[in-house]
Amino acid sequence: MSEINLGIIGGGQLGSMLSVAAKKLNINTIIYCDDKEAPAQNFCNHFIYGDYNDKDKIKEFVDKVDLITYEFENIPYETLNEMNKIKLVLPKPYVNRLIQNRLTEKDFINKLNIRTTKYVSVEKRSDLEKLVDFLPGILKTTTMGYDGKGQYLVRSLKDLSTLNIDFSLSYILEKLVKLKKEISVIITRFGINNYEIYEPIENIHEDQILKYSKIPAEISKKLFDESKDWSIRISEELKYIGTLCVEFFVDRNENLYVNEIAPRVHNSGHLTINAHNISQFENHIRAVCSLKKIPIKKISNAKMTNLIGDQIVPYRKNLKLNENEFFFDYQKKEIKIKRKMGHITKLV
Ligand code: ADP
Ligand code: MG
Repeated sequence: MSEINLGIIGGGQLGSMLSVAAKKLNINTIIYCDDKEAPAQNFCNHFIYGDYNDKDKIKEFVDKVDLITYEFENIPYETLNEMNKIKLVLPKPYVNRLIQNRLTEKDFINKLNIRTTKYVSVEKRSDLEKLVDFLPGILKTTTMGYDGKGQYLVRSLKDLSTLNIDFSLSYILEKLVKLKKEISVIITRFGINNYEIYEPIENIHEDQILKYSKIPAEISKKLFDESKDWSIRISEELKYIGTLCVEFFVDRNENLYVNEIAPRVHNSGHLTINAHNISQFENHIRAVCSLKKIPIKKISNAKMTNLIGDQIVPYRKNLKLNENEFFFDYQKKEIKIKRKMGHITKLV
């Protein structure tokens, strides 16, 4: 069998974990990233550092690979589209273009008759001033946000004077949901009605950053089924290939809403590495490389804890782990506040 050289755009922890999964399947990984210090260079076969608009560097990357996937969604659509003319890009660039923008993403979900929070486009300060009835809400940049970056909680118009919002950017205002809990569903689609789906995962955020994930989620049978059903419909409609995550809100009246779609492997799915026979990463590699689909099985219930900022320090100092605990160090050189540095999964 000829070797597969898989290109991955993005060199963070997701790129690292994809590389580890690929290695297990004898697939070479070539990572392209605009961060010289990208941690995934420690895990892939070959690393190329370059800007996402650098045509020469991108050509070097495209020449080296058989096909291309990505670990994050904020890659310029034009870049993905140009690459796709030469080598297969999966998931397809149109998926990325749709999901990159919170407005087109939510329009798409609502067209499927799937509930999201109420939302409205905000282009300038005076738009917001007309939306008093919409408050309290969360103002989010339409593009490029992650881990709560580019988000402002607006309780009333009075907040506008203290929030220092940069109105040169475009925003979406979402109605604040009175959250009971947050869950996510990870699905890997291989083709038409051909997928593997993990059970819903329950997530707890702190400061808008994921802190804990666990299975089983403590939710009703109705929410369990509905969240899986919506995720299947979304991935089918997108004709998606690879692993995708749908993030959901559950409100105090047990209503389910899609929060957002991540067209990639997802932090809440890290526990699949230890809790399942096939992880979300291996499944992604299998789907994009057209390898065999293997039915997933849960080995254990699990709880994952993100280590953010200096929370990693004691674990790096050889803190003793129990047999059912698994520590992952993303090997990021610099510890920064709010930066995901590693995680621990505990099988329970
Ligand atoms: P990111 O792209 O940064 O992950 P999200 O839209 O998922 O952005 O928001 C991050 C977190 O902020 C959510 O997981 C949730 O805890 C909180 N949040 C975001 N939007 C809302 C909302 N409309 N109502 C209530 N909480 C929200
Ligand atoms: Mg999110």
